[in-house]
Amino acid sequence: MTAQRPGMPGATRVCPHCKETILESAAVCPVCLHHLRFDPAVSSTPASRAEAFTPLRVEGSLQNPAGGEAWEYTMVLTIRNERGEDIARKIVGVGAMQPEEQRTFSLSVELKPTTEKPGAKRGTRH
Ligand SMILES: [Zn+2]
Repeated sequence: MTAQRPGMPGATRVCPHCKETILESAAVCPVCLHHLRFDPAVSSTPASRAEAFTPLRVEGSLQNPAGGEAWEYTMVLTIRNERGEDIARKIVGVGAMQPEEQRTFSLSVELKPTTEKPGAKRGTRH
């Protein structure tokens, strides 16, 4: 993944609570849901995050039927760019399901417009 400079779209930081890499612009960690900094907009108007939207959300459940063996599962997520190249490929979790156990897997992609204009000077990156 390309590291973006602080203040640029896509810039990241590490959540001090759960240590996940999240967007620098996030006021609330999407993983552990901790508030990350004082943000007057967030504390005064709950709708301040309304500009963020979730155009993709997928969820499905798998159940191991009764009477069989345990199943092992691996949940893999990939992000590809417009050329089909992997940008990220992660194992979210692995585990086992005993007969009659169920797991629900969900994926959501949140988008948030930035103030940066396309084609704006971004400087040189390596
Ligand atoms: Zn967190």
